[in-house]
Amino acid sequence: MKVSVFHLSIPFLTDPPSDWTEQWAVQLYVKVEEWGERGWGETLVAGSGIIGAYSSVITELIKPFLEGDTVSSPYELESLLEKIMFSAGNCGVVTGAISSVEMAIWGLRAKKMGVPLADLFGGRSRGSVKVYGSFPRFSRIEDVLRVTEAVRERGLNFIKLHQPPSTVLETIKAIREKYREMKVAVDLNSPFDLNGAKEFVNKVSRYEIEWVEEPLYPPNDYYALEKLTRASPVPIAAGENEYTLHGFRALLESGVSYLQPDIAKIGGVSKFLKVLELASSYHVKVAPHDRPDRSPVSLIYTLNLASARGEIEVVEYPITDFPTDLFPSVPVFKGGYVVPPENVEVREEAIAKYPYTSKVRILHFSDLEGKLIKSWYDNNP
Ligand SMILES: [Mg+2]
Repeated sequence: MKVSVFHLSIPFLTDPPSDWTEQWAVQLYVKVEEWGERGWGETLVAGSGIIGAYSSVITELIKPFLEGDTVSSPYELESLLEKIMFSAGNCGVVTGAISSVEMAIWGLRAKKMGVPLADLFGGRSRGSVKVYGSFPRFSRIEDVLRVTEAVRERGLNFIKLHQPPSTVLETIKAIREKYREMKVAVDLNSPFDLNGAKEFVNKVSRYEIEWVEEPLYPPNDYYALEKLTRASPVPIAAGENEYTLHGFRALLESGVSYLQPDIAKIGGVSKFLKVLELASSYHVKVAPHDRPDRSPVSLIYTLNLASARGEIEVVEYPITDFPTDLFPSVPVFKGGYVVPPENVEVREEAIAKYPYTSKVRILHFSDLEGKLIKSWYDNNP
């Protein structure tokens, strides 16, 4: 099996421009080839631009391993690679690197068998998948309102905001005043301690929101999370920063209402299927995380899983179009639902149009940090 790694920067273009145009322009793709067929996969690289860490795990360990051996199944590969690298930590960079290779092998397998991806996950049980429009961060409330109107005209009635914690309440209020029917979820990206989070969920509860996502820092403080879910008048969602099955179990035990695994972070399809089973044993809905940039590779795997698996309630989805010069078949969006292509195709000759730009990119999630972090952000806008 031949393994190739590609670094790209697909600009995140919106009108009006968002604060995360640069931050979401970091893409890592993997191509696996065997017997004339190709499979594609994607690793979600943290916005900070540490792409080299992920690709070095692939090129220095996974690639020689795969090129020298025959993989009998992606399940086996995923557990084996985790075992080999466990002392480097079965999370973050390690499982992120495994993810792209592992999902590419599923893509390759479907092509070799001549079947749609969804057939490998149990077969399509629904024609289209419910999605919500995940906003990037905008600097002004007027911009959020403008984009809300634009997506509503496209038929979306469910959005998620990534506005800073200091102004998000004001933003939701402005949306509610104009759009009573719009479903709104709030992603906080881990700014608060337990008291701050309690205060926030109580304040936001008057606006009838779908969920509050990752209100606590650190996001895997299960003890604090349990105290919060017990007291919270609104549903709590979490999981995009969880990597292990025992971590997902702890999240479920803490009482979250939605579990949000990311296939491009946790180790790919095999791990994702195990997380689905775990979530269904707790009767908790799964709302998969997907960074809503303009790259549909890992998203197509998630959507195909969602078309086959009833545990998945709704999938995070971008408000922008995908570049069709790079992707010959992209998900088809209609009125809040999406039909995914049967497999992932990338036009390799178009990759050169999206050269990777190396620079420090920090996703400035919270505006509540102490002085030191704030001055670091301010000096690296
Ligand atoms: Mg999130």
